[in-house]
Amino acid sequence: MAQTTPNHTQNVSGWAAHDSSGKMTPYVFKRRENGVNDVTIKVLYCGMCHTDLHHVRNDWGITMYPCVPGHEITGIITKVGKDVTRFKEGDKVGVGCLAASCLECEFCKNSEENYCDQIQFTYNGIFWDGSITYGGYSKMLVADQRYVVRVPEGLPMDAAAPLLCAGITVYSPMKDSNLLESSENPKKIGIIGLGGLGHVAVKFGKAFGHHVTIISTSPSKETEARQRLGADDFIVSTDPKQMKEKRRSLDYILDTVSAYHSLGPYLELLKVQGTLHIVGAPDKPMGLPSFPLIFGKRTVKGSMTGGMIETQEMMDMCGKHNITCDIEMVTPDKINEALQRLANNDVRYRFVIDIAGEEVGSNLS
Ligand code: NAP
Ligand code: ZN
Repeated sequence: MAQTTPNHTQNVSGWAAHDSSGKMTPYVFKRRENGVNDVTIKVLYCGMCHTDLHHVRNDWGITMYPCVPGHEITGIITKVGKDVTRFKEGDKVGVGCLAASCLECEFCKNSEENYCDQIQFTYNGIFWDGSITYGGYSKMLVADQRYVVRVPEGLPMDAAAPLLCAGITVYSPMKDSNLLESSENPKKIGIIGLGGLGHVAVKFGKAFGHHVTIISTSPSKETEARQRLGADDFIVSTDPKQMKEKRRSLDYILDTVSAYHSLGPYLELLKVQGTLHIVGAPDKPMGLPSFPLIFGKRTVKGSMTGGMIETQEMMDMCGKHNITCDIEMVTPDKINEALQRLANNDVRYRFVIDIAGEEVGSNLS
C-alpha cells in the first residue's frame, strides 16, 4: 500500500465544479500532511484536458462533487518526506493522471501502474485514506514520489505541462506498436482529432520519422497543421471523397476523438492488418461495424495513459527532441471561458492555467 497519512490538515485554494453545470468557482479544501514518501508541490501550471471537461460536466456519470480537476501539472517541490530518495526541494517536477496503486500486483511491479485494478487518479479518485482526490486546478499538491516525474532542464514548465497526460497518453500506444524508432521502417500513421492529444501525437510521429496524416473534422486546421506541426497529409473526415481516395493507405491510426463517432469510415483508411488504437473516451459507445474489420483483418484496441517509468521516458524524450505543446495560457479567472471553448473545439491546441501567476478573486466568468 502507498504510504499516506490520514490527517488532512493543510488548507489549499483551488477551483472546483459543484454540479453537472460544470461551472467552476474558487474552492478551499484540505490536503493531507506530507507523508514520509510524499512530496509537496507548489503548482505552477496545469493543462486543461478534455477529460477535465468530461468530469466537471459528469459526461461519464462518475463525478464526485465538488470536483477539482487537473492532471497535467507542473510545479516546484517545496517539501520532501523522510523516505523520499528521488527528489529534493526546488526540483522541477510533473504529476499526471495517477495518484496511487496497490504496488503489489503484476502491473505495479512492472511499472504499468495505470492498469492496476486498484488504481486511483489524481482527481475524482478515492485515496487509500478514504479521501477524495483533488487535482491540479489548485495552488498546492501532495503526491507520493512514485507518481511524480522530473521535467527535463530546458523544457518550459508551461508548455511541458500537457505532456503529463496528453503526452504520455499518445506516447504509450506508439511505443506499444513499435513506432518509436522508424529509421528502418517508417510507417504511415494517422491521427484522428487535432486537439490536445492529437497535436502531441503529430509531433511525436514526426520526431520518430513517420509519415503522419491528420484526419480531422476541421478544414480550418489544415494549413497550420502542415506548416507548423509538420503533418504530411490532412484528410477532412466529413468529406466522403477524400475518405474514399485514402482507403487502405495507413498502417496505424490513433483515435483521440472526445465525442461519439462511428469507427467504420476510419477503419477503411487502414491497410489490411492495420490497427486502430483508441485513446479518446466519448461518453457513448462508438459505432463498430464488422465489415471493415473482417474484410481488412483489422484490429481495434485501446489504452489508458501510461506507467510511471514510461512517463519519465516520454518526458526525457521530449527534452531530447525539444518537444513541447502548443498552448494558450489562461489565468484562473478564465477557466470557465476556456472550458466552454474546449467544448466548442476552439483551442490550438491546449489551454494551460497559470496557477501561480495571479491571485484570483471570486469573479470567475
Ligand atoms: P480535445 O483537445 O478536445 O480534442 C479532441 C478532438 O477531437 C477535437 O479537437 C476535434 O478535432 C475532434 N472531435 C471533436 N468532436 C468530434 C466529432 N464529433 N467527430 C470527430 N472528431 C471530433 O480533447 P483531448 O484533450 O485531446 O482529449 C481527447 C479525448 O481523449 C477525450 O475524450 C479525453 O477524455 C480522452 N483522453 C483519454 C486518455 C486515455 O488515457 N485514454 C487520456 C487523456 C484524454 P478535429 O477538429 O481535428 O476534428
Ligand atoms: Zn488528461
